[in-house]
Order: sequence, then structure tokens, then C-alpha cells
Amino acid sequence: MKVLCFGVGQAGGNVLDALLRYEQRTNADYVVDAVAYNTASADLRGLDLVPEENRILFGADEVSGHGVGADNELAAELAERDSRQLLRGTDGAPTSTADAFLIFAGLGGGTGSGAAPVLAKHLNRVYEQPIYGVGVLPAADEGALYSRNAARSLKAFVDVTDHVFAFDNGAWAESGEDVAAAHESMNEELVRRLGILFASGEVGESERVGESVVDSSEVINTLRGGGISTIGYAASELPESDGGGGFSISGLLGGGSSSSDDVDSINRITTQTRKAVLGRLTLPCDVDSASRGLVVVSGPPEWLNRKAIERSRTWVEEQTGSMEVRGGDYPLPESNHVGVLVLLGDVSRSDRVAEIRSTAVEAEQDRREREVGDAAASEDKTEAVVDDRLDSL
Ligand code: GDP
Repeated sequence: MKVLCFGVGQAGGNVLDALLRYEQRTNADYVVDAVAYNTASADLRGLDLVPEENRILFGADEVSGHGVGADNELAAELAERDSRQLLRGTDGAPTSTADAFLIFAGLGGGTGSGAAPVLAKHLNRVYEQPIYGVGVLPAADEGALYSRNAARSLKAFVDVTDHVFAFDNGAWAESGEDVAAAHESMNEELVRRLGILFASGEVGESERVGESVVDSSEVINTLRGGGISTIGYAASELPESDGGGGFSISGLLGGGSSSSDDVDSINRITTQTRKAVLGRLTLPCDVDSASRGLVVVSGPPEWLNRKAIERSRTWVEEQTGSMEVRGGDYPLPESNHVGVLVLLGDVSRSDRVAEIRSTAVEAEQDRREREVGDAAASEDKTEAVVDDRLDSL
């Protein structure tokens, strides 16, 4: 699946850079072009692989390249004012070759949080392709302001995109670990999942040994209808002597006799599927609240047992209660791992999102109380906790 990528703000740019690095490292080719936006020139300079000519500074008349701090409303305003300049980011890009557009942003900060939904809205008006957000949620210990920013931005992002892939920094920082110090390893985890998802739809004709290779329409259909998604992934290393061949072909054909090889392959794939879903998801959520799913099993072709993939798909259907779970394989002849990626689309219950919303509503209530004075605010109180009072950006 070919994607045209946009990174907005610091986290957005960093994750985009990490995806480009991952793509390079895995000799893949799914990013048709990459553009980074920021109100802070230093952050743009700090990028590595986003081409220099694709780094766009906006809002410079107002903030002189110094950024907006954590003021996402200001960022949204500046993005709106400079929308033509933002759209110029696609001028030299081969837009027609992209199956989808992808916008990366940290939703708790200022620039990405405010400007990413504005960029999505403007791209949506011009281009036919689906637009997906990749939204990084702040950890709880990053403070109430970040939660408030994230809650409002997430609402806006979901409204204007075709789906938001969520990544929760809080779930990925090890306990006691500083979130900022963990960014690099978190970015690696996120881009590995996205990279596998996009690369799986890009398997060339010569590698299409199985008939159930995932293609881009399956990813797009899983995300159709909008919402927030989460991704799980688990992999197991293959024993050295068996890696890259020497395996019975019966597993590949999904046929008849169950050799011990098949049994090992089935066990590995079903175990990794459970680990992917029951282990750490990019956004922790109630798995049975997902509307759709996609299971992608990667590894050397002789390990991609058709029965096992079908069994994994059925298991994900049982866990989600959804009848719309797709499954397919992603042959990687040189790999010494069998990996399972599970994309859960349109999840409706996540404690972490609920927590961010309630922290945000409290912060908003405090702010209004300060603004309107104590007497007026106490009348306001009971209503103020209703989620609708939290305006979208
Ligand atoms: P902006 O530049 O104003 O858009 O602000 P940031 O992108 O720095 O947004 C702050 C939020 O993004 C906080 O929740 C940070 O923890 C998070 N963040 C910043 N950089 C990264 C990164 O490289 N990776 C991840 N996962 N989160 C980041």
C-alpha cells in the first residue's frame, strides 16, 4: 500500500523520520513522499530523512519560527491562515500514486495537536484518497494540559480523517521511565507495525506464492467507516536450521496431511496471534469493542500455513465479536521470524481515551471557573462534566 506521509510538529516529524528509516532498513518501498510541517524551525532542522525541500515552516509571521509552546488553538489558527502554504507540501509529490495519505502528530502538544486536523481537512477537500491520522497520545504524567489538548485534538482528528491509528505513550513508557527518553524506542515499535501493514500490501507478483496475500484494499476496507484503531504485533524467531527453507510445502498449500512441520507452524502462528492481541496494543482498549479486524501473518513462505491463518482470523473474530475480520499473509523469504500483526479498527472503549477525556473535562472546567468567576461557575458545574462541553478544536 503506497502512502504519502505528512509529519506535523515534533512528534509527527520524529515518527515520520523513524518510518523512513524503517522503510530503508527493510528495503521496502511504500512511502511515495514525505513532508514535515512545524512552527519551530529548530525541530525541522533536527529531522534526518525527510528531504530538506519538504520541510515547511508555517506561522512564521506570527511566531518567527519559535513554535507555539503547547498552544494548540494558536497552531490551528496559524495552520488555517497558512493553509495554502500547507497544501504546497504536495506540489512536487506523486499524489496519484498514493493509495492513502497519512498524517502523523503528537496530539498532546501544540503544533501537531492543532495543525494536523486542519491539514487533514484541507487535504480532504482536494484529494480523493483516504486520509489516515497517526495520533500519539500523551502519558498521564505529562500533565492535564497535554490531556486537554489531546482530547480536543483527537475529537477533531477523528472527525476529519478516515481513521486514526492511535499510539499511547503512557502504555509504552516502562514504569518509572522518562517519557521523553523513551520516544525513540516507542517510535520504533509504532513504525514497525505501520511498516508491516503498508509493506504487506506491496508484495510483488513474483512473491505472490500464496493466494491470500494482503492487499491495500483489505487495509482500506478494515479502516472504512472511521474511528480509532489499535495495532498489536508479536513475532517468534525460527530455529536456525529451519529458517529460510527446508520446510515441507504441505503447509504452504494448506493441504491434507499434518506433518510435524505443519503442527509447529500452526502452533507458532496461533500463539503469536494471541500474544499480539492480548499483549501490548498501540492503544490499550477493550478488544471486544472493535468493529473490524485484519490479521497479517508474515514470515518465510513455507511457514505461512493457510489453516493457521484461518484459525487466527477466526480467533480474532471470537475475541472481537466482529464478523468482519480479514486475514492474509505477507511472505518474507529472507526472514527468520514468523510475525503476526493484528489491526483492530473502530474501537469504541478504551480506558486510556476515557481517562484523557475526563482529565480534559476537569481541566476545562477549572479553566472556565477561573474565567467566569466562582459564583457563575458553581451553577455551571453539573453540566460542565458532560463530554460535549469539551469542544473540538
Ligand atoms: P509540537 O511540536 O508542538 O507538536 O509538540 P510535540 O510533538 O512535542 O507534542 C508533545 C507530545 O508528543 C507529548 O505527549 C510528547 O511525549 C510527545 N512526543 C514528542 N516527541 C515524540 C516522539 O518522538 N515520539 C513519541 N512517541 N512521542 C513524542
